[in-house]
Amino acid sequence: MGTYRRTDARRNNRHRAGGLLFFTTLLALTVTCAITAYASANQPTTVIAGSYGEDMSRTKTNQEHTSAAQQPESVSMSDRQPGGGNSPAHNDSESWMLTLVNAENPLPSDHSPKLKSLANGLQFDERAIDQLNAMLSAAREQGLSPVVCSAYRSIEKQRTLLNNQTEYQVTRGLSREQAAIEARKVIAYPGTSEHNLGLAADIVSINYQSLDEAQADTPEAKWLKEHCSEYGFILRYPKDKTDITGIIYEPWHFRYVGVEAAKEIMESGLCLEEYLAG
Ligand SMILES: [Zn+2]
Repeated sequence: MGTYRRTDARRNNRHRAGGLLFFTTLLALTVTCAITAYASANQPTTVIAGSYGEDMSRTKTNQEHTSAAQQPESVSMSDRQPGGGNSPAHNDSESWMLTLVNAENPLPSDHSPKLKSLANGLQFDERAIDQLNAMLSAAREQGLSPVVCSAYRSIEKQRTLLNNQTEYQVTRGLSREQAAIEARKVIAYPGTSEHNLGLAADIVSINYQSLDEAQADTPEAKWLKEHCSEYGFILRYPKDKTDITGIIYEPWHFRYVGVEAAKEIMESGLCLEEYLAG
């Protein structure tokens, strides 16, 4: 059953996972899903060339994270299948957790998952929020203090942020066309961020809330990497897969894919793109 489900999901995602060359090309242009829920639309973030990330490398103050860590969310990814397929009913109900979202595979603009709020107010897909809370609780039982600083982000919000960033670039003197290009280096195109999906959470240590590689050295990040698969989560953007994911190493970004897939992915060292294409 498990294998069947995965196979179906892979088949369903194959059209998305394919075209590595095309994807690689897109990577050069694509951006950061960036902008977390708390990023102010009025304060465009500067970008360092070549450091695109799903969450944009940046440093936040504890206060910003704290406030950010207090917002809810909701997600519901319905795995819409192309071609109006004849996939079995169980497939539609189970493959949602393996939905691939990246620059080459954007979500539909009307994607509106069913969400539930975390204790801090951020929102997450209602179908996986219990697993997220269980993982956080388990970490806390070990004396750790993980903080979810970003979770669900609506596509509409993403679009607003991108538009604002474009306008900001125009005020800096760029042509509208160039401004749009620069803006997309900072903010992911609406629908291409896993945060739009609602199954991704950025988790940092309360003692180190910067979204940079040093996050990986915190006790929280180490514990999460080792145990996340037990709760159905994967470290989505590994250090050695940036050429495939198109996203910088993000030791804070965790994606729910279900326990079975999570264990296979974390044990095999494959990234989600490779797993789904396999
Ligand atoms: Zn993230």
